[in-house]
Amino acid sequence: MANRVNSQAETNVSEHDCGMMTEICNFCQALYWRNELNSSNKYTKCCHDGKVRLPNLVETPDVLKELLTNNSLEARNYQQHIREYNAALAFASMGTEGWSNEMEHVEERLSAKRNRLTQLQFYAYRLSVRSGFSLLHSSGKLFQQYVVDAYVKTEGSRLNYIRLNQKDLRVEFYRGLLNALTTRASNNNLRVGKLVILPSSFQGSPRSMQQNYQDAMAMVRKFGRPDLFVTFTCNPSWPEILKF
Ligand SMILES: [Zn+2]
Repeated sequence: MANRVNSQAETNVSEHDCGMMTEICNFCQALYWRNELNSSNKYTKCCHDGKVRLPNLVETPDVLKELLTNNSLEARNYQQHIREYNAALAFASMGTEGWSNEMEHVEERLSAKRNRLTQLQFYAYRLSVRSGFSLLHSSGKLFQQYVVDAYVKTEGSRLNYIRLNQKDLRVEFYRGLLNALTTRASNNNLRVGKLVILPSSFQGSPRSMQQNYQDAMAMVRKFGRPDLFVTFTCNPSWPEILKF
């Protein structure tokens, strides 16, 4: 796609820096970088235009704050072993409730269609960065565990939804496939288990992979074969990370 880059040009690339998180969500005060604007020129990942509002996490006791932010031997030990301490002492999960399927959107922002707060919206709100001390974001390894747990739970719920709503996902469309499978199995004296089709909207599913592949090939047809294969990894010494 691109013209071949000469080595001179390659060494003259200046470091990219997104600057500071200067943009603020008018509803929930979440902080953003300027470049995070979505296609409708808004910042909506935090609270979906004011639809989500959760109670603040309880005030962090000073002792805990010091252990999380200090550089003393004691504090460093605490930060290093925070997951073990959490498991041993079963920290009262920051004093506020987790997500439940009873939770609803903010009353004055209710829409006609969907009023329930989704698990994804809940965690997006919790994980958004706001000014002031955040117990969640200061908890290091325990924060990472929180993020992984949130991801797994959210994905689990979505898989469960797909499993229970196969009818609405127009799975009967694949009836022919199921018939072929049943015939082949019975020819081999086998029984077919329960078939669950993952739609292409589920990232990483065979249908999603197939769609991505087709899209990539369509681009190759239009623009020709690519000459660059760009991969992207995060580096902890990025200025955006060091500034926080
Ligand atoms: Zn917001």
